[in-house]
Amino acid sequence: MDASTLIPAQADLPALKSAADRCTACELYEPATQTVFGSGNPQAKVLLVGEQPGDVEDQRGVPFVGPAGKLLQRAVAEAGFGPGAVYVTNAVKHFRFELRGKRRIHQTPQPEHIRACNPWVAAEIAAVRPQIVVCLGATAVKALLGSTYRVTKDRGALMPYPGPGAEPETRALITIHPSAILRMPDDAREQGYADLVADLAVVAAAVA
Ligand code: SF4
Repeated sequence: MDASTLIPAQADLPALKSAADRCTACELYEPATQTVFGSGNPQAKVLLVGEQPGDVEDQRGVPFVGPAGKLLQRAVAEAGFGPGAVYVTNAVKHFRFELRGKRRIHQTPQPEHIRACNPWVAAEIAAVRPQIVVCLGATAVKALLGSTYRVTKDRGALMPYPGPGAEPETRALITIHPSAILRMPDDAREQGYADLVADLAVVAAAVA
């Protein structure tokens, strides 16, 4: 099954979310608890795309509510966005994990999962029509901009966004995924967080 066959024409976000709940376009739906669709301001000027839901998000059905999500919320506010200003989602809508005992350990989604799930994030971008799409980390970059871009090399600068769901004026910005900051050694984490805030501040200033 191709996810695009589930997407109603001219669908708004509630219709998309409801359709995505039934998606079985790749095997990730099976062990996961539920589809975790995007959330936030449906008319946001800025749409942030991460990798996939984590353990907490999978259980609650809401993106960016676990430890990395809390860090991102703090960084978004510190960068100058008001409450409820942005829309957040993921490139892949089901949690990919490996069971180790009772623990569910995050596994990076594979190219086939990113490809299979692409119609959903494209439809979200088309429905929200943001001015800027922020790619948080390598999976979002691969899903939306392709494999020529690298987070380390290309982060922090506004660029044209030619990806799925784009309109002619849409721009993109690449930055680090907040979970990568949580994995940094103690002595690097503060700088990692400051760099994320600085990248997001570029976006906030551009849409102010
Ligand atoms: Fe569908 Fe995406 Fe879930 Fe795969 S990860 S089943 S494509 S919603």
